Amino acid sequence: MEIAIISGKGGTGKSSISAAFATLQDEIVLADCDVDAANLYLLFNPVCDKEYTFVSGQKAKINQEKCNSCGVCIDYCRFDAILKKDHKVNILETLCDGCLLCSRICPRKAIDIVNEDKSRMYTGYFKNGRMVYGRLASGEENSGRLVNLVREKAKQIAKEAGINNIIIDGPPGIGCPVISTITGVDTVVVVTEPTLSGLHDLKRTLEITIGFKIRTFVIINKFDMNTDMTSGIEAFCNQSGIKVIGKLQFDPLIVEAMVNCQSIIDYAPDSDISKRIRNSYSKLLQFNLIDKI
Ligand code: SF4
Ligand code: SF4
Repeated sequence: MEIAIISGKGGTGKSSISAAFATLQDEIVLADCDVDAANLYLLFNPVCDKEYTFVSGQKAKINQEKCNSCGVCIDYCRFDAILKKDHKVNILETLCDGCLLCSRICPRKAIDIVNEDKSRMYTGYFKNGRMVYGRLASGEENSGRLVNLVREKAKQIAKEAGINNIIIDGPPGIGCPVISTITGVDTVVVVTEPTLSGLHDLKRTLEITIGFKIRTFVIINKFDMNTDMTSGIEAFCNQSGIKVIGKLQFDPLIVEAMVNCQSIIDYAPDSDISKRIRNSYSKLLQFNLIDKI
């Protein structure tokens, strides 16, 4: 079973909850699909067994030895990525779309197309099983494609190792990487906070998961920060037929656990917050089981 933990925005405690769920079982595959800001490898310090290069796209590069600064390529680039300065023509990497046009029209064949290959995917072992994570290099794009690769690898490892459950820590927001994270998963858990923007983001996120017909649950993190808003979120979930499987209070232990590079379950197993998270996970498994009967 693939369980994706997502949130409408960053900073809701999604990764802490993913880490906690991952350490509730002895054998799990943990996939960190927050490829723009992967952080679970910092927490669990996995022993990596493989590193894969991810080619995220292509960029144009001028061979200055061949270029005579004629400027033809500047006129053709629709992205204004080519500039002439001090009689020298250069390509601004951040603006280049990799469309290849300049390399085709350059009369001196002075433009090479090079792969963007600084992003990586890693696989490895951590104390509760196996781990897969992607890291998109800064300035590189196509995070959705890297998310797909991480998920595919996680599924392959789970199949080969006979591991039943995959926990996915998804990216925040509702963009392309999130769609790649949740498409085809068995279950989504949306982590939200009791704020107006939290409710707004939750509604947008649920529109997608409901639209995709994915079994969805909600966890309200820091519910005690605004109990009226928490009630509002619960009422909204009830009306939408979405189960709230957990209300977690604000607890500094969560941050302490992260600072100590542990999940809250490992750091403070007997704390009330750990009990509540355990309870949420039990409900999640229970509801999944009931739905399958
Ligand atoms: S078209 Fe080719 S030769 Fe002319 S400025 Fe561009 S890279 Fe240089
Ligand atoms: S590859 Fe396309 S976007 Fe990049 S510099 Fe050449 S024409 Fe411009």
